[in-house]
Amino acid sequence: MSTYPEYWNRTMETAATPDFTKAQEQAFLREMDYIFANSIFYQRKFNEAGIKRDDIRSLEDLKLLPFTEKSELRDSQLTTPPFGDHRACPLQKIKRVYSTSGTTGRPTFIGLTQHDLQVWRETACRAFWTGGFRPDSMVPLVVAPFFIAASYADAIESIGTLVPIGVGATDRLINAFQNLGANAFLSTSSFPLHFAASLRQKGIDPKSLGIKIILAGGEPGAAIPAVREEVERTFGCIFLEMMGNGDMCGQIWSECRFKQGMHFVAQGAVQPEIVNPETHEVLPIREGTRGELVYTSLDRECMPLVRFLTRDHVEVTQTSCECGRTGFGIRVFGRTDDMIIVQGVNVYPAAIRDVVAALVPLTTGAIEVQLHSPPPQGWFPPVHIKVEHGPEAGHLPSLKKRIEETLRSQLIFKADVELVPPHTLPRYEYKAKLVRKLYEERT
Ligand SMILES: [Zn+2]
Repeated sequence: MSTYPEYWNRTMETAATPDFTKAQEQAFLREMDYIFANSIFYQRKFNEAGIKRDDIRSLEDLKLLPFTEKSELRDSQLTTPPFGDHRACPLQKIKRVYSTSGTTGRPTFIGLTQHDLQVWRETACRAFWTGGFRPDSMVPLVVAPFFIAASYADAIESIGTLVPIGVGATDRLINAFQNLGANAFLSTSSFPLHFAASLRQKGIDPKSLGIKIILAGGEPGAAIPAVREEVERTFGCIFLEMMGNGDMCGQIWSECRFKQGMHFVAQGAVQPEIVNPETHEVLPIREGTRGELVYTSLDRECMPLVRFLTRDHVEVTQTSCECGRTGFGIRVFGRTDDMIIVQGVNVYPAAIRDVVAALVPLTTGAIEVQLHSPPPQGWFPPVHIKVEHGPEAGHLPSLKKRIEETLRSQLIFKADVELVPPHTLPRYEYKAKLVRKLYEERT
């Protein structure tokens, strides 16, 4: 049995509601002072909304403030390059720069001061510790250095041992587990089964690597029961999910071993809200609440953000947990950016993937929605979806029919499923792209 403590930061992670609210409020008011004094972007936005610093006296007043869209940050960097006028600190204080993956438009730059880096490291430590990393964890990190995920190196070193691995260096990764004693891993949720397939091709039993824990982020999926069971059975490990936001904080949510949703772990750094995606009405945090996640930074020097609309659609799964953490739990069920409307029905590609992943090992869980022409013509049923079948899927026409029927009954739209061989759809190191707009690729 491990003799390590249960929490990375007991005070923050187990704070009772009144203490938590008080701490968040103090940080919020401090951050408001800073933003009103230093952010040209928000001085303009607040002025336009007719809001003065004195109007904001408690956390309750957060709802008076305007929302921030991702497109505003992009525009801000176009008109005031390179960091935009939402940069609130002197240039010399910026110590590290990441860029967010440009899945929807050009990438944006994320500047971090020394203080910001410390805050990111602290929340990532809480997230990884919640997932089970301990001082005896040795963790290979496969990530390109410009990705936000590269910042996890700091947190891994603070807890245990880091083994940097280049992207695509599968043999180096395998070697770290076989010969160095690496015993834990961070990845996207789709990577482990792909990795298992390449291990088997080399005649290596995935279990022989001795991986105890895999923490998955970057895309939802680890929480799908069929995927989780398959990964846990294949590697003989625990498979948990976590999540952050490139524009806000590397790690904000993390699942504990009780697997009842990702705990909020960014106390003191981020104030989360859940709002109705259409009306932006603030919804109460209780089990079953579904809506869009909104973040306000509480301790950010370079790029403080207020009521940042994440486009992530989540459901609150728990407000208390056997592990003692008081941060509420969520699961992500889709993203506004990916959502397509098929004959008036909202369809989340992540939900399609969940349906397909529930059929693992008949499928590998990987999908790609093929949009052949721009809306509205292109988004009439049937929607063309490529699905990877598993290595032992059996009779493919029956599997195709089964997937189409399940999509029709669960997501209320008609699909035309094209089964493709395992591991032939593109794999992504950071964030999976579930939709391919073929009409944009034509020249
Ligand atoms: Zn828990």
